[in-house]
Amino acid sequence: MKTVQILKKHLDEIVLQFGHHPGLSREEAAYFYIGPPEEVAPGVWHFYSLANSITFICEDRLMQVDCNIAFRAQAVIDAIREHTTAPFDTLAITHGHVDHCMGTYFYLKDSEKRGDPRPKIIGHKNLRWRIDKNKMLEAHRIGTDKKQFQVEFEQTDLFVYPDIEFEDRIDVTVGGEAFNIVFGHGHTEDSLWIYCPGRKVLCCGDLFQWTAANVGNPFKMQRFALENARTLEEMAAHGAEVLCPGHGPVIYGREEIRTCLLTAARYLHFIQDHVVTCLNKGMILEETVNSLKMPAELMNSKWLPPLYGHPVFIARGIFKRYAGYYSGRPAELFPPDYAAVGQEIVNLAAGAESIIARVKELKQQEQMALACQLAEWVVEAEPQNADAWEVYGLLFKERAESEFNMQARGAWNQAVRRAVANLDRLEG
Ligand SMILES: [Zn+2]
Repeated sequence: MKTVQILKKHLDEIVLQFGHHPGLSREEAAYFYIGPPEEVAPGVWHFYSLANSITFICEDRLMQVDCNIAFRAQAVIDAIREHTTAPFDTLAITHGHVDHCMGTYFYLKDSEKRGDPRPKIIGHKNLRWRIDKNKMLEAHRIGTDKKQFQVEFEQTDLFVYPDIEFEDRIDVTVGGEAFNIVFGHGHTEDSLWIYCPGRKVLCCGDLFQWTAANVGNPFKMQRFALENARTLEEMAAHGAEVLCPGHGPVIYGREEIRTCLLTAARYLHFIQDHVVTCLNKGMILEETVNSLKMPAELMNSKWLPPLYGHPVFIARGIFKRYAGYYSGRPAELFPPDYAAVGQEIVNLAAGAESIIARVKELKQQEQMALACQLAEWVVEAEPQNADAWEVYGLLFKERAESEFNMQARGAWNQAVRRAVANLDRLEG
């Protein structure tokens, strides 16, 4: 098979990982787990979709926590309707990421179709700001989501603003059932968590999501590790018997939940403390990241596999938050064009062939980061060099195949797509 065919086959075989976990237990599937709905407490239904949502049946009405991604919302509403015909009274949005809020429109439509009163939408006061940001950067965000999740999926943007906004905390009663809704800074600046003391159910949104925390995302805006850790500790103090996370399986049992939330907090504090210490010692970004050694007990925690978040991403996020984006390498503040650097390196090596040979050696030695860097210089220096694109594509394909972290895999597969596009261009 020709190299370009091998690369295309690799790209064709990428699947959306959510719900695709053959042979794995719910805990092993972790962040990607999607299973049948669960009645987690009497009258409390947890639904798995791209992101989870929870429906509390409160006498003759419903409290809904999160409204799914737009293209999966109707399926969840249909599933809710298999268990209850009560109208939605309140829709609480844990934060303005599309997988939690973009389906709100369909919940309103469902109520309208049934002739029910319009449900009230509750969100943190920063949700409105986040919706505006999403509108401003719509094309960028949709493109980025595809890079992160690696597959083309239909995305409809149907923005709905909250009716009720709050700053620190709001307590609401739905059908006689009390809910504490609390601002939980960290994952985003509009995150909230919801506790139902009557049923001891805690809905934490993405403040915990069965992966190393998604704070310090390489593709996304600033997030807040320290605040996320403190929010996890605050939630742990509530004595919940059921924890419904934003992604991944429901967790049962007071002690298990407490340990889970406090472990997730410790994970973030460890990285936060490391970066703060490094900054105060005057260390630059590279030194800070490369000297981070996570304790095995945290790295191996069943609750925190680096499936989506990653300790390096978290460390970089914290560094950038306090010290800006400067790498600390003076040559990189106003850097030369990438292609110009590549050309100099190719010239010094007296041609691309010897670098390509070295790339193959480094790959054999599993020095993938170095191999990828050299290969990237060559394709930038010589975009007409089909051999270079083939090596580049195969290298990143192999790196993607052995990569555990979905976002890193997304970046490596972008490189494979680039190689395919250039090989097609050179062929044509
Ligand atoms: Zn989410």
